[in-house]
Amino acid sequence: MENCVFCKIIAREIPGHVLYEDNDVLVFLDISQTTKGHTLVVPKTHRKDVFEMEASEMEKLFSVVPKIARAMKTTFNCSGLNIINNNGELAGQTVFHYHVHLIPRYLDDRFKVLFVNNMAEYDGDALAALKDEIKRKLES
Ligand code: 5GP
Ligand code: ZN
Repeated sequence: MENCVFCKIIAREIPGHVLYEDNDVLVFLDISQTTKGHTLVVPKTHRKDVFEMEASEMEKLFSVVPKIARAMKTTFNCSGLNIINNNGELAGQTVFHYHVHLIPRYLDDRFKVLFVNNMAEYDGDALAALKDEIKRKLES
């Protein structure tokens, strides 16, 4: 895909610090290094976001994640690791080629993941209605 920075890294048109590669997946360091070792896992085929990914492409992509995660743990002795994927501008996506962030976590790193708790607004009936709405789409 023209003008896609990740397609350019895949095609070796611009440099990337590649950790792993196979026929379908490329793994390279994120330029921003949100924490030490921050890495991206991308499909070699250009897909904009999760909504464009085939299940088989997702399987191949995630099949490499555990070994990369373990390599990070043994290399950097990180205390944890966040796996994050942003889809759409509103969700924080800035590069529109699907990618999964692997972000090793260290004591006192400055990275924050904040889940807001809206439990008070969703009783059992409200959750059941949400579930039914989604299931109807899944089954149609
Ligand atoms: P997003 O915000 O779309 O979830 O994440 C995009 C990521 O791509 C950012 O963390 C950003 O640092 C990274 N990035 C953007 N341009 C480049 C680049 O040219 N090379 C590498 N290695 N990472 C990039
Ligand atoms: Zn691309």
